[in-house]
Amino acid sequence: MDYEKISRTHIQGYPVKMNYKYLGIVLNKALDPRNSVIMINNKLKGYLSRNDWIVKKFFTPKSLITLSRYYQESRIIYGLNPFLDMGDVIDIAQKASLKYLRSILGLKHNVSSRRCRLVFGLPKLEHNLLVRLVKNVKKYKEHFGEIPSIYNRTLEEYRKWSGLDQPLTELPIEYLKSTVLNRSISDTAAKEGINVGTRFKEVIEKFLYRWPDRRENLLIRYIIKFGFFDPRLFSECELCGGENSRTHVTNECPYFNGSRNRALEKAKKILGQNALSNLEEVIMQAYFAPDPNWSKKQIRELVDMTKTFVADLYMSRKKKTEVEDTRVSDDEPRKGGKDQRRANTPLLNFFNN
Ligand SMILES: [Zn+2]
Repeated sequence: MDYEKISRTHIQGYPVKMNYKYLGIVLNKALDPRNSVIMINNKLKGYLSRNDWIVKKFFTPKSLITLSRYYQESRIIYGLNPFLDMGDVIDIAQKASLKYLRSILGLKHNVSSRRCRLVFGLPKLEHNLLVRLVKNVKKYKEHFGEIPSIYNRTLEEYRKWSGLDQPLTELPIEYLKSTVLNRSISDTAAKEGINVGTRFKEVIEKFLYRWPDRRENLLIRYIIKFGFFDPRLFSECELCGGENSRTHVTNECPYFNGSRNRALEKAKKILGQNALSNLEEVIMQAYFAPDPNWSKKQIRELVDMTKTFVADLYMSRKKKTEVEDTRVSDDEPRKGGKDQRRANTPLLNFFNN
């Protein structure tokens, strides 16, 4: 948008204010809402410490995400859709909203934002805002018979991105919404080299994160590649000395032969195939792109197999490093052993690793 910059401090004796709150948004002289986003973000900071005790104790991941979206994200993005063309402001809002999501899920701040959204099938903030903007523009058109030209360029840019032929404002909103949000998710997935299928939404909505299950907290970490198999943390596998990665731990590391074989046996029973050998691929397919022909029962069982395998991974690694720890001298600090409050919940100890 080409806002006229106002340089005078008074107009006809009336002071020109630096910030002005209009329809719930604080705008500066250049009609830029960034101060609004920053102010709301500062107000919300108190939630970060509250999130520390709320974390995963009483809520399922799904409830936590809902809490974060209702109480934090919705406040941050309130009224921002008309400013969709201001990329840097939208980026500030996106970063802030992901900070609360990570915090409420007990994930460390250096966890990849992209994978964080992907694991729950969450679209980018700008695409949620786009849907709202189109809704508002359509409403405007209903009332005034025309589309405010100020949004033409933004809407056209997003139309090109979406691959849709018609102007976005001429499409039924539900169709537009599902197209835009699906596109947003598959874009994100492609950047991670992941193929998202038509049943991904079904997996997230029906088979995961709805009921208390501690294995799921580990599954989230596995999918976002956060843990001892992250090559940025350890380039060498601490168990066998091989080249470290999630693929290595899942498919190759001899230390996990037992867990891997049990998982592959289960997968073979569920899918009735003999050729399954790449466990990571099976897991990724079950999570992001289940075959359209698989029954609900097959998906449920595969997801359960995955959860068990992942919990197994983190637990056997923990056991192994604890054995090592008892052998090292006292002057070497022990990782993950300091939080005594969680002593009775062994799985939760892994969150610190
Ligand atoms: Zn290894």
